[in-house]
Formats: sequence, C-alpha cells, structure tokens
Amino acid sequence: ARRPIMAANWKMNKTLREAEDYTAALIPRAEQAEGVDVAVFVPFTVLNEVARMSAGTPVIAGAQNFYYEDSGAYTGEVSAPMLQDVGARAVLIGHSERREIFSESDDLVAKKTKRALDAGLLPVVCCGETKEERDSGGFWEKIKTQISSVMDALEGDVDGEKIVFAYEPIWAIGTGDTASPEDAQDAIGKIRDLLRELRGDAFADSVRILYGGSVKPENIEEIMAQPDVDGGLVGGASLDVESFGKLVEAA
Ligand code: 13P
Repeated sequence: ARRPIMAANWKMNKTLREAEDYTAALIPRAEQAEGVDVAVFVPFTVLNEVARMSAGTPVIAGAQNFYYEDSGAYTGEVSAPMLQDVGARAVLIGHSERREIFSESDDLVAKKTKRALDAGLLPVVCCGETKEERDSGGFWEKIKTQISSVMDALEGDVDGEKIVFAYEPIWAIGTGDTASPEDAQDAIGKIRDLLRELRGDAFADSVRILYGGSVKPENIEEIMAQPDVDGGLVGGASLDVESFGKLVEAA
C-alpha cells in the first residue's frame, strides 16, 4: 500500500517568527501520527530555519519553486543545490499559481522535474484544469498534456516512490469549492491509469497522487477514503497548525 502524504503549502505567507512557532508545534504532532509523511512547503526566506528545526524529525521541509540550472546569471532564482544546502528535501513544481501568474509552461515544469529528481529532491508536480476547461469538457486533455510532458522528459527507469503528483483543479483552489470526492477520484484514477500506460504497473502502483483544492478538516475523510487519493496538498487550511495537525491525523 502507498504511504499517504499530508502536505502544507504556505504560499506567500509567514514571517520567520511565525514559521518557527508553527514548526515547533507541528513536529510533535507529526511524531505522533503514524503511517503518514508530513511535508511543509514554505517560502525561501524561512526554509533554512524550518529545515533546521525539522532535521531528524518526520517533518519534510520543502520549497515552493526553484530553477533547473545550478548557478549563474538567473536573477531572483534559487537552484536545487541551494535548496539542498539549507536542508530542503522536497519541492513543489508547476503549482497552478506558478503556471497562471508567472506563466510557467509545461516545458519548464518538465525540466524542473527532471532536475529535482536528478538532484535527489522529491518533486511534487502539480496539475489541474480551469473552470472553463472543465465546463467545456476539455479537462482530461489539459491534465493528460501536463502529465505526459513531464513523463516524456524523464529518461530511463524512474522509481515511483521518488516522485509525487498533485491534482489541484484551479476552480477548487482557495474557493471553498472542493471537488467532490467522486470528481477527485475520477481525475486521480485517470492520472494513475495514464501513468500505468506510460510507465507500467510498478510505477503506477507506487507513485503517490495527492488532491488539493479547499481541503479542510471537515472534508478530508471523504477525500482520503477514495482508493486512488494518496493524500492532500493544502493551502488555506494549512496556515493554522491546529487545523493542519488535524489533517495530518486524518491522513
Ligand atoms: P487551498 O487549500 O487554499 O484551496 O489551496 C490549495 C493549493 O493550492 C495547495 O497547493
């Protein structure tokens, strides 16, 4: 069976002091919770401290973005070795806010995923459709293109445990309008079927696929009950450590 993951995405939130208080409160709760991986994707400015505090605990410190070159004239960017230097073990790639607000393309997302894997960072690769794409029936085309372009960029055997996908329908992000458990299962089941087609059973059966979009303590149980859903990627409800702690316990 796949080990579930509960992941917090703080987005552009929290001062250093707030990050320290949160991490100190999360560690004992993550230590108590059994059979679940706990990850926090935090701003670069607090990553060093969150990773330092989390070292030797079950909490996985991660970044929300990076660039695929290792160093050089890329003003404003941070590389995989730089993330690892401050203790990051995972990184979000292709979040819809990166794609929509910062115009990240499928090609860029694919290059970043390859680099994260080569560097030994756990990539959490996000995909998801807009409301218009869903309403016009183009939902699966979009997701299929997003996933295929990433998998095409990965040469050779990839261990399914070394990469994570997150299905985050854009219309469900920060809206309170969660996908129904059936819609989440439908999309994530299709993603797993596609990965099976592309990479075979061992990969498809071990790769973890998370749901994101208005996850909260009130709806986590029905979402986690879906057979192909391996955890949650949580924005708003992850900002408060009490509420994220409940999600960790429910996973
Ligand atoms: P919300 O949980 O705030 O809807 O955000 C989801 C998300 O984008 C997590 O990456």
